[in-house]
Amino acid sequence: MNQYTFKELNLAPALYRAVEKEGYEVPTPIQIAAIPPLMEGRDVIGCAQTGTGKTAAFALPILHKIATDRPRPSAKSATVLVLTPTRELAAQVGDSFKKYGKLLNLRHSLVFGGVGQWPQVQSLIRGVDVLVATPGRLLDLMKQGHLNLSGVKYFVLDEADRMLDMGFMPDIRKVIAALPDKKQSLLFSATISREIRDIAGKLLKDPVSIEVERTSMTASNIEEKVFFVNDSDKHALLSDILKDPEISRALVFTRT
Ligand code: AMP
Repeated sequence: MNQYTFKELNLAPALYRAVEKEGYEVPTPIQIAAIPPLMEGRDVIGCAQTGTGKTAAFALPILHKIATDRPRPSAKSATVLVLTPTRELAAQVGDSFKKYGKLLNLRHSLVFGGVGQWPQVQSLIRGVDVLVATPGRLLDLMKQGHLNLSGVKYFVLDEADRMLDMGFMPDIRKVIAALPDKKQSLLFSATISREIRDIAGKLLKDPVSIEVERTSMTASNIEEKVFFVNDSDKHALLSDILKDPEISRALVFTRT
């Protein structure tokens, strides 16, 4: 059991209240490890999976700094830029920033592909405090002159290993090259490969390295089974399983 409380982390009152409202009682291990160095302005490389509380581990200290310094976003730019591999994750991370930063009255924007770009372009005109984006559409908007990264003070590369798997590395390099020199950078990844280290080396200055164990979240009354199945048989197997009269309710998780 960790003994830390959110109070000891000395977050700005608006954030402390938001955390209380969420019903979080104690910070998770990654929050305990990441929040103090991030509040001090250090760069961080974090090895952590989803489910560890990593979003709050970066969102809370960044919002704390914004609450303290109140930087004004510059037009067509963003103070905080978070890059995520998928639109679903972008939406989730965007929601977390909104939730935790609710009392700060910030401007937020989400940028991802697969939908019309005009609402996104409109939302960027005056500049935003927090921009969460996937790499492809971000670069598109930059190329068209709707967005520049000159105002970025905080940059987060989230789920970097998934971005590599999805072939985003050339895009990420372009984004990093367009960022100003003076900024605080964070990189989170479930695994730290040689390529991730390479990107970290280019992006991060004297980073604090944080690693947290994957905590097993399976409740003791849940029995787990694994089926090894060919890709082409997956759907048939799933519908067979769901037809089982023993199953009255089911949750199906997919990768995207
Ligand atoms: P993440 O690892 O960022 O995907 O977060 C996983 C879930 O944990 C989210 O639903 C958060 O709302 C929740 N969470 C984050 N921090 C805490 C905390 N300190 N106590 C309880 N739940 C939390």
